[in-house]
Amino acid sequence: MKCIICNGDDIRKTDVKEELKIGNDIIFLPINVPVCTSCGERYYDRRTIQYLEKEEKRLKEKKVNLHEVGKVLEYA
Ligand SMILES: [Zn+2]
Repeated sequence: MKCIICNGDDIRKTDVKEELKIGNDIIFLPINVPVCTSCGERYYDRRTIQYLEKEEKRLKEKKVNLHEVGKVLEYA
């Protein structure tokens, strides 16, 4: 499999943190997906996309235990 972005051929399963945005909050969800080592493009299969959608729904329904790791700030 070659990267569709940079045509690189080194794509490895990698632990990454997917950012899910719920309102003004960003939630990091750890997932393991193929990532191009040259350009960083992530490849999501159908199952991963379904998992992300499921977790997003659970987050919106506040069914997930979360802890704060940082703050999102903007200029006043
Ligand atoms: Zn690439």
